[in-house]
Amino acid sequence: MGLIVQKFGGTSVADAERIHRAARRAIAAKGAGNQVAVVVSAMGDTTDELIDLAKQVCSFGGCDKVPPKREMDQLLVTGEQVTIALIAMAIHAQGHEAISFTGGQIGLVTDNAFSKARIQSINKQRIFQELDQGKIVIVAGFQGVTPEGDVTTLGRGGSNATLVALGATLGADVCENYTDVDGIYTADPRLVPGARKIEKISYDEMLELSGLGASVLQTRAVEFAKKYNVKIHVRNSQNDHEGTWIVAETPHMEHIVVSGAALKKDLIRVSIKGVPDRPGIAAKIFGDIASANIVVDDIIQTVMDDNTANISFTVEHGDLHDIKPAVERIVKELGATTQATYQADLAKVSVVGVGMRTHTGVAQRMFKALADNKVNIQNISTSEIKISCIIAKEQAVKALQVVHDAFELEKAK
Ligand code: ADP
Ligand code: ASP
Ligand code: MG
Repeated sequence: MGLIVQKFGGTSVADAERIHRAARRAIAAKGAGNQVAVVVSAMGDTTDELIDLAKQVCSFGGCDKVPPKREMDQLLVTGEQVTIALIAMAIHAQGHEAISFTGGQIGLVTDNAFSKARIQSINKQRIFQELDQGKIVIVAGFQGVTPEGDVTTLGRGGSNATLVALGATLGADVCENYTDVDGIYTADPRLVPGARKIEKISYDEMLELSGLGASVLQTRAVEFAKKYNVKIHVRNSQNDHEGTWIVAETPHMEHIVVSGAALKKDLIRVSIKGVPDRPGIAAKIFGDIASANIVVDDIIQTVMDDNTANISFTVEHGDLHDIKPAVERIVKELGATTQATYQADLAKVSVVGVGMRTHTGVAQRMFKALADNKVNIQNISTSEIKISCIIAKEQAVKALQVVHDAFELEKAK
């Protein structure tokens, strides 16, 4: 007997009909002789709506307060809790047995980094008890509980992390990630109409693509899948097409120089000017920022003639309210010559492929394509398997299309 963990994203459980469709899929997997666990997201845009509601309450009457993180998590977990009960009911209505659990009920323990908590452990006994009785087990995605009993969320897209963690803990044969597109494409198919579905992609490439803006899978989930060798099959919940398999790299994959392109649309550059040029300053700045749990990128340091340095980096727009207090504190500590500025309306376009390790000329081809289309590159960063360019946000979608065309990603390799 096999064991399958399925995950249904927001669009795939957006109404009663879709909930029944997801239920049918879980029942079919069970009918094929598998034990089945199902992870669900909040229905449709529920999470966004809850965030908006919190903002309304916190800015009511002209005050402008950021919601306390603990309370925000307390609010957001309710979205997934609605879905688990409804999908269990749908399975019952179709004549099969199911039982639903919140993160806390299956002992999904996390650290206490509210809004971006990391999974520490899952109590698999309770889940196996129910699976062994022939039930389909439904688990709320995106949520956990601290050892002290506070509820936490796992970052946007965190149901992917629940899927993979459950897959690893239960020793699943496959994690099926059901979403609203047919699989992983060479670029976001909603932005690049000619994007092509990829059959198989390596963990490392998917890790880069997710981190660089392909929100179809959460980066942390891919990281976890790689670490525990969990196979993910990304599929469309509305049809039976074969999707994309995310697997360990094979030698064949290096033949493909660029596998995909990605876009981050909303970045801000933080520049700290007049920083004393002495050992330990960068460590201090980035240490303080890291302790706010924020990922920074594209760090540039320029040393000036007067023994000061300018340090700049980019962060996602949504992280600005978390990072600003840390930056302002650092500026104050460093003294009168230091100043921080924030430049919004930036984007990052990237290409990713394990074949870059063994092929040359990729960067030049990307830069030329952007230049030919009058897209100005403000900064470049590279790793072994990716090249990224910071550009103006207003040119973002065009830049993604241009780069996709330059590497002929629409053509099957
Ligand atoms: P779910 O609610 O199922 O978790 P998401 O909205 O989080 O779905 O992710 C699916 C979306 O990810 C797609 O609708 C698509 O617009 C976007 N996306 C971005 N990059 C890619 C890519 N390379 N391949 C497929 N989808 C992508
Ligand atoms: N509902 C959460 C979100 O919108 C988690 C998820 O969908 O994966 O981010
Ligand atoms: Mg998602």
